[in-house]
Amino acid sequence: MAGLEKFRIEVKYVRRARRATLRVKPRHLIKLSLPYGVKRAQIEEWIHSKTNWILEKHEMLESQTKNPAVQFIEGAQVPFGGGPLLLVRAQKVKWVELHGSDLLVPEKYFKSEESVRRAVFKWYQEQALAAALNRVEYYCQQLGVKAKSVRLKNYRSRWGACSSKGELIFNWQIILLKNEMFEYVVAHEVCHLIEMNHSERFYSLLAKLGFNKSEMHRQFKHLKNLI
Ligand SMILES: [Zn+2]
Repeated sequence: MAGLEKFRIEVKYVRRARRATLRVKPRHLIKLSLPYGVKRAQIEEWIHSKTNWILEKHEMLESQTKNPAVQFIEGAQVPFGGGPLLLVRAQKVKWVELHGSDLLVPEKYFKSEESVRRAVFKWYQEQALAAALNRVEYYCQQLGVKAKSVRLKNYRSRWGACSSKGELIFNWQIILLKNEMFEYVVAHEVCHLIEMNHSERFYSLLAKLGFNKSEMHRQFKHLKNLI
């Protein structure tokens, strides 16, 4: 299938399924579960219509660490919101959980460092989306604008983007930034909903939200690889 040549598709028919569901898994795997009676051509068309979404999901799953100092093993320190968390192997949790500065990771993921890393990355992405949605709403209210949608991407060298349609996209790693920088990235993209440029007018909107251009640029200039 165009754009999805590398993917394997695993199909399972489920008697009680009311509708088709599609899950994207690591290493180019798509898992489909289908109600009986769905035709192959229908399914192919459906998957095809989701090509971009599938590629983005997969890219998020496969995002690699660049900083070799960050390890995903028991007792290691992992970055989060500007302060490190202690990675703890936990017996009684079902999903990754934050307790104070301990990041509890369920026992079952400790098959390999890679499996722990995937779980933690997925958790980072959940936190990033929740936090971004929350703060976009706040800054939009301040400026009296609305974003069409908010989503995450695995950007290599940018923190966010705003489309001309009003869609905001953030690098999921914003959740690793210290709070003020995270807030700045969100506020910056929200300001682009009004000014699609980096003019004086744009920076005066940011100033209205409490951000100083040169101070924030200085902070980002000194930013090192987070993960
Ligand atoms: Zn910008």
